[in-house]
Amino acid sequence: MSSTDSRRSIATVCLSGTLEDKLTAAARAGFDGVEIFENDLVASSWSAKEIGEHCSELGLSIDLYQPFRDFEAVPPDVLARNLRRAELKFDVMGRLGADTMLVCSSVSPDAVDDDDLAAEQLHLLAERAAARGIRIAYEALAWGRFVNTYEHSWRIVRRAAHPALGLCLDSFHILSRGSDPAAIRTIPGEKLFFLQLADAPRLQMDVLQWSRHHRLFPGQGAFDLTAFTGHVLAAGYRGPLSLEVFNDVFRQADPGPAAVDAMRSLLGLQETLGAAGLPPAPALSGHAFAELAVDADAEVRLAEALRGLGFTETGHHRSKPVRLWRQGDARILLNSAEAPGASVAAVAVESADPVASAKRAQRLLAPILPRSHRADEADLSAIAAPDGTSVFFCRTGADTADSWLGDFTETSPEGAGAGVTGIDHLALTQPFDHFDEAALFYRAVLGLAPEPVTEFAAPFGLVRSRTVADPSGRVRIALESALLRRGDWAPGVREPQRIALTTGDALASARRMRELGAPLLEIPGNYYDDLDARLAPEPSLLAALREESVLYDRDEHGELLHFFTVVLGGRVIFEVVQRIGGYAGDGAANSPVRMAAHRRQRAAAA
Ligand code: MG
Repeated sequence: MSSTDSRRSIATVCLSGTLEDKLTAAARAGFDGVEIFENDLVASSWSAKEIGEHCSELGLSIDLYQPFRDFEAVPPDVLARNLRRAELKFDVMGRLGADTMLVCSSVSPDAVDDDDLAAEQLHLLAERAAARGIRIAYEALAWGRFVNTYEHSWRIVRRAAHPALGLCLDSFHILSRGSDPAAIRTIPGEKLFFLQLADAPRLQMDVLQWSRHHRLFPGQGAFDLTAFTGHVLAAGYRGPLSLEVFNDVFRQADPGPAAVDAMRSLLGLQETLGAAGLPPAPALSGHAFAELAVDADAEVRLAEALRGLGFTETGHHRSKPVRLWRQGDARILLNSAEAPGASVAAVAVESADPVASAKRAQRLLAPILPRSHRADEADLSAIAAPDGTSVFFCRTGADTADSWLGDFTETSPEGAGAGVTGIDHLALTQPFDHFDEAALFYRAVLGLAPEPVTEFAAPFGLVRSRTVADPSGRVRIALESALLRRGDWAPGVREPQRIALTTGDALASARRMRELGAPLLEIPGNYYDDLDARLAPEPSLLAALREESVLYDRDEHGELLHFFTVVLGGRVIFEVVQRIGGYAGDGAANSPVRMAAHRRQRAAAA
């Protein structure tokens, strides 16, 4: 049995809503089973029997009932109370149809530090459970009073030596403490009763707070869950892969999409374990085009700006109100729309096999967008990203029969341009609630690799940023989000979007674009004084950067020169970038200065 065969479960605590909402969402996303979190059951208007029946109607098994707290290593009178409590919960489990109960290590002031006593009392509990056909899965909480590592919980379970007593392994509790999970391989598989998976960002904070607020689905955080799960499977674990994620955002989010996000994370994890269930992501080789939805005013403004940036309107779509602007391999579509202003409506990537890309997306539960097209037009495969942006998979090229360019009637040849050769990356602001979901979506569905999360202090609040890119760096999408959005004071650009264009010579492009009348952003002199102090560019380079309002950054691999237009149509900004050497980032260090300059420009224009 391989990890492909593993059943997939989710704890009801991961999702928002009532138990009914959660079960419906889990079933729709394709989960095989659930962990019933006790609070969800207690608050439900359905009886335990009705919940059990409802789960089986939905095709969900109840894989775990949890949590049962503060049981072991207590004085006799407390033990008697705890056993009574357990028997009543066994009754509930019987009505539910659940056969495994999670017992987490005690945090009670009643407990004593005595492994023999803990083992003896857990043996007693397992004996009572076995009589009811129930198993006990003992879990070491990372903040357990005396038992807080899996090694310790295993010593106690081994000492108790009861067939109805085994372990629950929870990746968060183990990896948050920095325990080495490799020794899990030495535990007999039949003693591993349950596996709970959660990812998390690396944070320096109290582990209980970290766990209760910041857990993430696998692939969204910093834990190596592939290695962790690999150890558990190698030990012979045969139970479900079950998600147990406490997260402030997911607890409030619509449970439908959250359950889909959760399922996608498990499918992605199984793929990294070598499970062959998914078609591999076809190679991506660049941005085919970016499509902007524009109202009439924004279209005029965008057309002027594109002309200033050296683009030519080279064609229009044969059946839709879409105009194609080109410069080198940079292609921008302006799509006349009702929605106010301008916004990036679609991102198109060059795929070696667009149909296979779409098939993989479908397997990873990405919504497939219905496309209306005439019989003689290219059938572009399109899916919806979590924020609603369309993602197209296409192949561009004159010799390609299915090229989307064939749908455009050429109206004029491309002009001399201003040195732009292609699209370097897109930066798309995500609604905060979709930030982690979006990173996982692009990672799993498109096969892009996420770069580390960075945060910077922008003039109007902290901004979190994470870039996802293909291995060659030819497809790059920077996901950005304001960390908090509270109150009405909103002087910044609301959910800005940037289209970054590539040039081989930023200073020459900036000069030429100014001549062509591009609305470029002015950068204040303080920035260049500070740049001189920090990075000491050659004086002639510094003077040229200052003259042309071009920003500069450097890392251990190379240099970046970049500049910006003003904000167009309310939220769209063009950026022009020149990468020298292997500069890997997106110039995030310059973002606060650029954002303040945009604010000043907007205030002056108002
Ligand atoms: Mg747990």
